[in-house]
Amino acid sequence: MRQNKNNGNYKIFALCANNNINLLENQVRKFTPKFCVVYEEKNANDLKIKIRDTNTKILTGMDGINFISSHDKTDYVLNALMGQIGLEPTLIAIKSKKNIGLANKETLVAAGDIVMAEAKKYGVNILPIDSEHCAIYQCLRGEENNKPEKLILTASGGPFYGKNKDELKNVTVKDALRHPTWKMGKKITVDSATMMNKGLELIEARYLFNVAPDDIEIIIHRESIIHSLAQFKDKSIKAQMSLPDMKMCVQYALTCGNSGIREQSRCKELDLTEIKNLSFRKPDDETFIFPELARYTIKKGGTMPAVMNAANEIAVELFLKEKISFPDIFDLVQNEVRNHKNIKNPGVTDIIEAADEIKRRFITKFN
Ligand code: MG
Repeated sequence: MRQNKNNGNYKIFALCANNNINLLENQVRKFTPKFCVVYEEKNANDLKIKIRDTNTKILTGMDGINFISSHDKTDYVLNALMGQIGLEPTLIAIKSKKNIGLANKETLVAAGDIVMAEAKKYGVNILPIDSEHCAIYQCLRGEENNKPEKLILTASGGPFYGKNKDELKNVTVKDALRHPTWKMGKKITVDSATMMNKGLELIEARYLFNVAPDDIEIIIHRESIIHSLAQFKDKSIKAQMSLPDMKMCVQYALTCGNSGIREQSRCKELDLTEIKNLSFRKPDDETFIFPELARYTIKKGGTMPAVMNAANEIAVELFLKEKISFPDIFDLVQNEVRNHKNIKNPGVTDIIEAADEIKRRFITKFN
């Protein structure tokens, strides 16, 4: 994106997508970007035919994504890729000193140490678009002299909240894709159902806000009104609230994140008297093991979090293809973490290789 200095509005310079070609065509016509990256060659060809009457150039693959992330004419990169694939373009955007809005949490999970060190080195501010982290970012604003004592991440609990291990044996893909409050992509919706999403967010928070893993608490808050909280040493707690709407987080990262100036939005106003009750409970860590597994991997460090993330990415894919059951996701990921020979202080190549090795092995085993 490029920011128009006169009115603060953004001009879309390039768009990137994987397979939603029809939506991409609409967006190309609406925003007239210079470039469009479609990851898969076949989908790129489909788009080429659809938009041949426009001036938008089509690129493909990682090269295409990296090209637009570092292009001279880009000054803001909003990374909403799904999975660890988002790591490389994030690092390239940082090196090119772009402002970054990060919706791709796996980037920080796989290589948080490296990404944050690079961001510091190149003076780049990473603005979280994940609603929990956007909330904490807002809570910490103006508290630069007060390190939070504890961060509290809220979790909706997903569609299977309250179920025990036995009850999870027969849940279907359709059941898992029915999220109570947020409408999201398939992978993140399954991650919400297993609570891996909260595990990944715990790691994300650890890096974004530089807090120890044990200083991050997770609580179940079914209403998704409080998006997360920060506690200070005087035991004062700040929370950020709104109706659940990702548009607010995207707007904050784009406009207020760097400038500190809030702008009007079209989001619906929260009426607390209509909501009436807000509830908070402890999570069931025995059934939904992933948040604590994530805490374990981040304490171990090295390639551990990346391995957990890679195993989860592929396990979710297998579940969505109905090749494994829902509880298998827990077993497969846990086994990978338990059996992994950790590499301390890994480079990006070690991280990518550790992840790829799992993916290769899973594909051979389940095909
Ligand atoms: Mg979130």
